[in-house]
Amino acid sequence: MAQGVEIIEVGPRDGLQAEATLLSVDQKVRLINRLIQAGSRRIEIGSFVSPSVVPQMADSEAVLVRIPKHAGLTRIGLVLNQRGLERAIAAGCDEVGLVAVATDGFGLKNQGVTHEQSIVLCEQLAPQARAAGLSVQITLSVAFGCPFEGEVPVERVLETSKRLAALAPRDLALADTIGVAVPTQVRHLFENLQTLAPHLPLRGHFHNTRNTALANIMAAYHAGVRIFDSSIGGIGGCPFAPRASGNVATEDVVYLLERRGIRTGLSLTQLIATAHWLEAQLGHPLPGMVARAGEFPYTSTK
Ligand code: ZN
Repeated sequence: MAQGVEIIEVGPRDGLQAEATLLSVDQKVRLINRLIQAGSRRIEIGSFVSPSVVPQMADSEAVLVRIPKHAGLTRIGLVLNQRGLERAIAAGCDEVGLVAVATDGFGLKNQGVTHEQSIVLCEQLAPQARAAGLSVQITLSVAFGCPFEGEVPVERVLETSKRLAALAPRDLALADTIGVAVPTQVRHLFENLQTLAPHLPLRGHFHNTRNTALANIMAAYHAGVRIFDSSIGGIGGCPFAPRASGNVATEDVVYLLERRGIRTGLSLTQLIATAHWLEAQLGHPLPGMVARAGEFPYTSTK
């Protein structure tokens, strides 16, 4: 039996923040409850960033309050600075998602900090979050390529990861923020990272912008990665790639892994139903493929 993986659902944050249609608090709560019903146990609920920059996430506090805390559920809030951390703590998040950037170009454009400043911020925020009783996950953005600087040197990704690993997060992700990674690169980076930090749980965050996300997930799996981010329906494009499709779709990942014998703890049937429901709320077709094609074998056992 292959070892299972943990899927972190990022649709309600990374996904919805890229949607032109603003969902109401009610709709977001229904989405999250459906995901919990489908088996999600770690969910990015929202972000605590400036509402003028990301209006889609302005109601993250109101959403969180309606998703009750319970054992076995981790409600993650993304924070980029001190103010965000204070909001996430006040809102009652179980975990904060911190973000370091691999390049100055992306960092300055996306969150107003350089590469170095983003690491220092993680170093400042992680201990504070933990002191407040929250767990901490860290994501290194544009680790496989940057929309402004192109190729990102492997040494920089590894050196940065080493500093972030020293903060002992619950897990550390290398993120293919703009969907440019290919499997050989993914395997190489994660294998090196594993050598650098053998006891640190690693996470893969892949966007399917160039249709390589599933291949990258399998490459990461073979390099020892056991935690993956994905987004229901594949929502979540990138502001720097206007026509790009979004995060890899949760139901596509679950189909691939489960049929390969890797347990995810998620119900494909319920994920597909949720993707269809979300499609109706957003009013446009979603990029995920399995929700369109359906399950196989045809009768679900779940
Ligand atoms: Zn992302």
